[in-house]
Amino acid sequence: AQTGVADPHETLHRVFGFPAFRGMQQAVVDRVLAGRHTLAVMPTGAGKSLTYQLPAVTLPGTVVVISPLIALMHDQLRSAEAVGIRAATLTSVDTNRAETVDRLLAGELDLLYVAPERASQPGFRDLIAQVQLALFAIDEAHCVSEWGHDFRPDYRLLRPLLDHFPDTPRLALTATADAHTRADVLTQLGIAQDGLIVAGFDRPNIQYTIHPRQGMTQQIADVVARIPGPGIIYAQTRDGTERLAASLARSGRPVRIYHAGLTPEQRAANQAAFVASEDMVMVATIAFGMGIDKPDVRFVAHAGLPKSIEAYYQETGRAGRDGDPSEAIMFWGAEDFSRARQRLSEVPEERRAGDRARLNALAALVESPGCRRAILLRHFGESPPAECGNCDNCLNPPQRIDASVLAQKLLSA
Ligand code: ADP
Ligand code: MG
Repeated sequence: AQTGVADPHETLHRVFGFPAFRGMQQAVVDRVLAGRHTLAVMPTGAGKSLTYQLPAVTLPGTVVVISPLIALMHDQLRSAEAVGIRAATLTSVDTNRAETVDRLLAGELDLLYVAPERASQPGFRDLIAQVQLALFAIDEAHCVSEWGHDFRPDYRLLRPLLDHFPDTPRLALTATADAHTRADVLTQLGIAQDGLIVAGFDRPNIQYTIHPRQGMTQQIADVVARIPGPGIIYAQTRDGTERLAASLARSGRPVRIYHAGLTPEQRAANQAAFVASEDMVMVATIAFGMGIDKPDVRFVAHAGLPKSIEAYYQETGRAGRDGDPSEAIMFWGAEDFSRARQRLSEVPEERRAGDRARLNALAALVESPGCRRAILLRHFGESPPAECGNCDNCLNPPQRIDASVLAQKLLSA
């Protein structure tokens, strides 16, 4: 990056073309520019990338970004290069690795994206020891915690690398960490308590509805008939996506599927069709969605219980990025809970407590007669008003008796 003192606002306008920082971005950037270790918890779409891309432009030296998915890295690379940032990825699929190393050593890289398994190797440490480092940015930092919903052992190997460069500031980023996971991420990555910055999680334009399953195929068909815009339906299995997609064939809507059993070409074609469409329904497993930037998704439906509140928030968060009214509709059954409990007994001992806590939090969300949004936001450490006015329970307060019947079903499952 450039030398000399640059005004972050000036860089924000000139390089990124944005009129202002959003939410907590400036607080994060300020800390990073002051050289202080930080954990930023900000929702998907909040603009976390900017909090290390801007310092990459203004700070001398290279920002090393650790990121878990090669596909995401390449998206990020394109968007960084689009605004003129000198960036590269160093991954197994890059054929220009030698050139990237040359650029790095010549001090010609503002940003270097690397996966955790490569970053934790001694060879990588020795390589970056030869250059000036501006910052370590650790994206999807919840992956370092066994309490998180997406633990990746490779993230645990990052600490020795970070500690080898004690003077280089660390910026850990995540969209999805409950209080317990946050505390663990801070400890694992050696960031002090006061380095935590949490941004608002509320998505007021999303209306939350959570129903027990009751002839789910029809329930899903009703959603599709009622909401004309693009929508995503999450099914729990590949077969489930195929069956639901087939059942929607007569809906008159274009329907595509997405799951890990399709070829990469089919997946890419279906994703591109969805992104371009104004009325398509995508029936998918949770393999679909990461890194997809489609602002006008009008509904996200869950045909079955999601994995955790974090997963639910992240998946439903793909609706309404443009701020227009959108819906998140979940259909769950008592069997979902019995299956999840069965799986609990199969996970390694050390993960079980976390998984059980996550399942209980989900149960509390689906069975509650109270405001869904309030439960979600409290889960992420916020103190929301008791009622949001834009979820099923606020719009249509359930009879107390219904709630206790649901609770009994749940407990006897
Ligand atoms: P996250 O990683 O938090 O999910 P991204 O970094 O991918 O979010 O950013 C989401 C979108 O927000 C991008 O399209 C980005 O260009 C845009 N964005 C980021 N910061 C700003 C800003 N200050 N003003 C307007 N748009 C922004
Ligand atoms: Mg991101």
